[in-house]
Amino acid sequence: MDARLEAIKDTVLMRNPGEAEFHQAVVEVFESLGPVHDRHPEFLEAAILERLCEPERQIIFRVPWTDDSGRVQINRGFRVEFNSALGPYKGGLRFHPSVYLGIVKFLGFEQIFKNALTGMPIGGGKGGSDFDPRGRSDAEVMRFCQSFMTELYRHIGEYTDVPAGEIGVGGREIGYLFGQYKRITNRYESGVLTGKGISWGGSLVRPEATGFGTVIFTQEMLRTRGTSFDGQRVVVSGSGNVAINAVAKAQSLGAAVVACSDSSGYVVDEAGIDVALLREVKEVQRGRLKDYAERRGGVTYVDGGSVWDVDATVALPCATQNELDGAAAARLVRNGLVAVGEGANMPSTRDAVAVFQEAGVLFGPGKAANAGGVATSALEMQQNASRDSWSFEHTEERLTEIMVGIHDRCAATAEEYGEPGNYVLGANIGGFVKVADAMLAQGLI
Ligand code: NDP
Repeated sequence: MDARLEAIKDTVLMRNPGEAEFHQAVVEVFESLGPVHDRHPEFLEAAILERLCEPERQIIFRVPWTDDSGRVQINRGFRVEFNSALGPYKGGLRFHPSVYLGIVKFLGFEQIFKNALTGMPIGGGKGGSDFDPRGRSDAEVMRFCQSFMTELYRHIGEYTDVPAGEIGVGGREIGYLFGQYKRITNRYESGVLTGKGISWGGSLVRPEATGFGTVIFTQEMLRTRGTSFDGQRVVVSGSGNVAINAVAKAQSLGAAVVACSDSSGYVVDEAGIDVALLREVKEVQRGRLKDYAERRGGVTYVDGGSVWDVDATVALPCATQNELDGAAAARLVRNGLVAVGEGANMPSTRDAVAVFQEAGVLFGPGKAANAGGVATSALEMQQNASRDSWSFEHTEERLTEIMVGIHDRCAATAEEYGEPGNYVLGANIGGFVKVADAMLAQGLI
């Protein structure tokens, strides 16, 4: 790392103790930024990096609610409003027992660059709770969401901060959150949340957008090597929103998607994952992958273990952070891996990224490859602002344009800085320069 940036990084790490995921995200970005500061000493002078690493606002709050047996439960809620240089804070809410400030900050920090890369006017933020929706009834989830919003509502708004879904937060949760926001404020402010239902301000393609976008980005990477998804053997991790839609899109482009996972195990389905059945089991019945395996028949279900033991030419990690380590990456590379598109945020460890890059594997980092979700959220905001709703075809066309644009911007930036094909460098520098320029223009804020 550049010596000037090393000192800034040390201070950031010291000021944020015990936040391993945030440290990881900061170090990864700093490692790309040396050459930018050679060309733009004004960024150093204005302490852009120091300011960028300090969220504009961090909100932590108590979320009390009662479970179905009438017992009081307490969770912790978070919203980190990281950077508003380009627009209102924008980023999802994660409900998962592992959530703490370090995870919310890593996600919020990544979101700044991701949102800048989309070319849309949105700043970076993220939030969530250590609430675990798994195994909770609809009534419990509703009471939790209502309590969560009873605090959050005062911090968000169409022009301030616009949350969306993420791990553990899907259409059901967004519905309960929106209902409570509307009730408290007495305003039908559609643009305050994205991922809404179609009949009440949602956008077609938003549910599919992150998974579809990841595949479109990966297809563009493959194109630079004169190939495509057609005939590839694909493994996807996760079986949630992003994973299911990545499977569907990859299959529509001619790939054989042979495996996916959840936190309990993975399934190998050599005939190709049956997306309709997977959707029914996961999205309608809220079941487990094991249920898919039982209903599908003729497939292998592995309890525990790692889905990255399954050979693939294209890997799409779509579950969670640090799920793919150096050893798994080396195994995949030995067995013929050609490309990785990150649907999840930071799913590959730093060791894994190094293995992919040294082996010349095409590697699309999450902040670029999974930006289709937030980009389509911005399209939802556009539709809300103009009281309009677009067709599926038009919205998907816009998503495709945006993903191809992100790919090309990352590729061009990597080339400009002397490292063609390095999408990590391209994404970090491309996102950073845009935000840094805006921050400089807006003075010391
Ligand atoms: P979902 O909750 O719909 O699905 C998450 C999937 O990942 C589930 O299969 C879940 O398994 C698995 N998973 C979650 N946590 C873990 C864990 N600690 N270990 C192993 N498996 C785990 O979430 P999404 O699909 O929305 O999000 C997936 C990833 O994509 C996240 O990294 C998120 O940050 C990223 N992302 C999502 C966007 C969106 O629009 N939704 C936008 C951009 C990025 P189980 O059911 O067993 O918990």
